[in-house]
Amino acid sequence: MGREELERWLSQGESLAQIGVRVGKHPSTVGYWVRKHGLAAARRDRHAPRGVDGDELRRLVAAGMSQNAAAGALGVSPSTVRYWMGRLGLETGRMTRRRERGTQVDGAPAALLTCERHGQVTFHRRGERYRCGRCASEAVARRRRRVKRILVQEAGGRCCVCGYDRYLGALEFHHLDPRSKAFSLSAAGVTRSLAKARVEAAKCVLLCANCHAEVEGGIVTLASGSEATNVSRPVATDPG
Ligand SMILES: [Zn+2]
Ligand SMILES: [Zn+2]
Repeated sequence: MGREELERWLSQGESLAQIGVRVGKHPSTVGYWVRKHGLAAARRDRHAPRGVDGDELRRLVAAGMSQNAAAGALGVSPSTVRYWMGRLGLETGRMTRRRERGTQVDGAPAALLTCERHGQVTFHRRGERYRCGRCASEAVARRRRRVKRILVQEAGGRCCVCGYDRYLGALEFHHLDPRSKAFSLSAAGVTRSLAKARVEAAKCVLLCANCHAEVEGGIVTLASGSEATNVSRPVATDPG
């Protein structure tokens, strides 16, 4: 057993038993090495954990650090961090979430709980469990983008008037025949099933936002039902 590490653990207030657990040896074996290296085992009154900077610990925990990570950052043992967190009434995000999971939420439709990613936010009940509202809406937004990416790809991936293809968010579906429109393929529309959205996309042409505005404004005409290759494109006029 190395002198340096033994000395470090002892200076951190670890007992022979604790060091024994670390190195997988009986405490008496640890005691043997302590004497052999001419070190002194921590006296009873030194068993109290070392002091840590409470504000620093608070800051690390608030930043989402685990006990072990905080111990590393503060240069003390995890048990010291555990001790001070208890004394200071701190808990890691993981501890908070575990505690909350154990508490009754009385079947309320919503509850203020702690999300790993979003901190303390409103959770909504979904069957037996609660789900972070922000995680849920992010998931919806991801799904929308994914469905739209598929539909856009299937529609040729570019504006059928000018060929623009740089940004998905600037590409829009335009219904060739408004009477056949079941629902709009705007942000809300693509939350429907992919199959339903596909049926709708088949009635549309893909336009960039600029060309879409020109079509809606009547200064560009798409030949109905065509691949929109025959577009009559008059010289731009100032509508104002
Ligand atoms: Zn969340
Ligand atoms: Zn365009």
